[in-house]
Amino acid sequence: MRTRRDVVDAETTVMAIKMAGTRTYLDHNATAPLLPEARAAMLAALDLPGNASSVHAEGRAARAVIAKARDEVAALCDVPAAQVIFTASATEAASHVLTPNFRMGRAPVIVSRLFVSATEHPCILAGGRFLAERASHISVDRDGRLDLAALDAAIAGHDAASGQFMLALQLANNETGVIQPVVEAAAKVRAAGGLIVVDAVQGAGRLPLSLSAMGADFLILSAHKLGGPKGAGALVSAGEILMPEPLVRGGGQEKGHRAGTENIAAIAGFGAAAAVAREALSDIPALAARRDAMETAMRAEAPDVIIHGAAVPRLANTCYFTLPGLKAETAQIGFDMEGIAVSSGSACSSGKVGVSHVLKAMGADAALGAIRVSLGATTTDTHIAAFLKAFSTLNARRLSRRAGEHAA
Ligand code: PLP
Repeated sequence: MRTRRDVVDAETTVMAIKMAGTRTYLDHNATAPLLPEARAAMLAALDLPGNASSVHAEGRAARAVIAKARDEVAALCDVPAAQVIFTASATEAASHVLTPNFRMGRAPVIVSRLFVSATEHPCILAGGRFLAERASHISVDRDGRLDLAALDAAIAGHDAASGQFMLALQLANNETGVIQPVVEAAAKVRAAGGLIVVDAVQGAGRLPLSLSAMGADFLILSAHKLGGPKGAGALVSAGEILMPEPLVRGGGQEKGHRAGTENIAAIAGFGAAAAVAREALSDIPALAARRDAMETAMRAEAPDVIIHGAAVPRLANTCYFTLPGLKAETAQIGFDMEGIAVSSGSACSSGKVGVSHVLKAMGADAALGAIRVSLGATTTDTHIAAFLKAFSTLNARRLSRRAGEHAA
């Protein structure tokens, strides 16, 4: 007899085959497809009846799933497992850690100023629990890298008598893929007695990740950028003594740092994806070669294409480009109609008509916007060929429209 599970499995498989046959998914920075390892771990966890806080065998089984995932996420960040707090998203982890109120053991610690780089993800730019007047932006250069001289000036201007300061800086940008000088920034922050929070959401699984090698106090992570499920994240700390006041209060889950019954299926999927991500770092040079070959072909087709951040180290999977004369929103629709999923700007801002704050902060002409192509482990040469074919079609349309405008 066919069970409901058989039906769902069959439907999912048919859908996946249909999508794989007709569509080319190049939007891994928005979200990466669920890895089979994550899916298997999630399905196994869904069948566990217990609550991880219960003392009986069912509860202990659920707790063991969380412990395994915690070990896997900790290994990805090179920290002891006790330093990983699971949350429902990186956005929640950011809202948790960006707070003026910390504790060092039992003693309160006040953070009186938040500095964020101008190209941060909106979940960092929102400033968490800081009042708007307590938060300021630090500029980036034309390549999108944090201006370290501006950081020096900001630190020098901080009134240490009012409390500590905190810098929130991303490891890599979600739109451009540009890698930030995190180690240099962390050294400056630490020398001045501040705290540094690194948004490692886009860097995890794409760059080696070690909290201590970076010199960070906290990292934030998101499962779904790694091939884990959407709706799972983590706040990772450098120790267990200095911690932010909890954001979600209630029961004692996550050692009192994050209340609420744990979503063990999501956590299990996150752990499995983190384990794969650690192993998959060796595939990154091949991914970079594929992206670089794609960009070479794009430049050959459209010599005036602008590839943002191309002059500085970028994530191996990301290409963020503007074709002069072609609005990114129009291009995105064109790509979609050709079967290619890419985005104009970040996933959070696509769907809204707005100018990319990242392009603006880089001093680029933001009016046309830019298209983000982001590759992943499942990207093949066939996908790249399909993208380049669509790129060529849209470029030809752009050129003929321009020729028409000149003739008119
Ligand atoms: N930080 C960066 C750099 C991101 O790209 C994203 C998601 O796009 C987030 C944070 C937020 O992650 P989540 O979707 O888990 O809230």
